[in-house]
Amino acid sequence: MEIIDRITNIFQKKFGSAPAHVARAPGRVNLLGEHVDYNDGFVLPAAIDRATYVAFSAADAEQTQLVAADFDEQAFFSPQTIPLKTLMDGSPLPEWALYPAGVMWALNGNHLETCGLNAVYASNIPRGSGLSSSASVELAFIIAWQTLGGWTLPSMQRALLGQKAENQYVGVNCGIMDQFASACGVENRLLLLDCRSLEWKTIPLPENISIVIADTKVRRKLTSGEYNKRRAACEEAVRLLKQDLPEIKSLRDVSIEEFNRCAGKLPELVSKRARHVVEEIERSKQAEALLEAGNIRRFGELMDQCHVSLRDLYEVSCPELDIMTRIAQSLDGCYGARLTGAGFGGCTVNLVAHEEAERFSQLLAKGYQAETGYPPEIYITRASNGAELLK
Ligand code: ADP
Ligand code: MG
Repeated sequence: MEIIDRITNIFQKKFGSAPAHVARAPGRVNLLGEHVDYNDGFVLPAAIDRATYVAFSAADAEQTQLVAADFDEQAFFSPQTIPLKTLMDGSPLPEWALYPAGVMWALNGNHLETCGLNAVYASNIPRGSGLSSSASVELAFIIAWQTLGGWTLPSMQRALLGQKAENQYVGVNCGIMDQFASACGVENRLLLLDCRSLEWKTIPLPENISIVIADTKVRRKLTSGEYNKRRAACEEAVRLLKQDLPEIKSLRDVSIEEFNRCAGKLPELVSKRARHVVEEIERSKQAEALLEAGNIRRFGELMDQCHVSLRDLYEVSCPELDIMTRIAQSLDGCYGARLTGAGFGGCTVNLVAHEEAERFSQLLAKGYQAETGYPPEIYITRASNGAELLK
């Protein structure tokens, strides 16, 4: 594979020998259950066949030397510099190095040994497009340190440590879904995660259905501020709804009937945000039975409804995502289309009849370019395995 050859060659040149190992960790796409992970809801992602690959060996010393091949940049740190978030020379860690360094920090915090590492890594997941390139970097490095560390963690524990690195070291307030999907993916299966109990199972996706991802090429701006506002609105809704529903701990505990009865007490904006969450959790509860029964048509309708809700109630769409979704829904073979990930740009996800997927992708690209003036990136993808050691 081209990307593995590339990092292997760079490794050879930089460190003077071939890497002992190669690990991969995939990105993910979420089919249903958007913006509900931090409301204790259910999510339905799949790991995709695009991934971060890391070529690595144990270093002779305790320092870790990393090359981020996609940026042509290097970083050099040690267990002593980790708490300071600096390189060996005392300068601040570059942003990209916070992710692997954060993994080391999270592992050490759990008393898991991390030896010095020589590593070169690269990814074919577009960055910042909602396919979770960041979680894939974290999980690839967890596999690397696990391989050399003589300890083994269950996949969900790996996901939690990746999330801890991103939340507490990098400082990004994400839920568990991204790391979960990258850690626990299963080939040709969707993953259904209960974000409260962390119980999960896999659900089949019919063989004649393709997952098509369409990148608008619009990159999210001001996302973290908007994301935090959405989280705050959900917390505010729970606080106010507790006056009538004292038992509830999160919006997960509120049925649609209860919500309809009590929503009048909420400020309008808070009510819109909370309605998306309550209804989206209801949709995701229906998904399992529909997919087990192979009812893709009805499942696709839930995806379409999800987009409308994200656009009108949660207000995390943007014109380009709406255009991409509208064109997709008008094309033959499309069962469902919606924005995926945090929103404000990035990608849509589409379920498409396998035999139509190529044509669908071409027509979608053409239609999108005609309306926006620039070309999107379209990937026909498959549900893949989670983070793993390849060699
Ligand atoms: P995403 O939705 O893709 O996860 P994020 O903003 O959460 O977007 O994470 C993107 C960040 O992850 C990048 O800015 C970079 O720091 C890190 N990252 C992702 N891919 C790579 C890569 N190939 N090499 C180095 N760092 C990467
Ligand atoms: Mg991310």
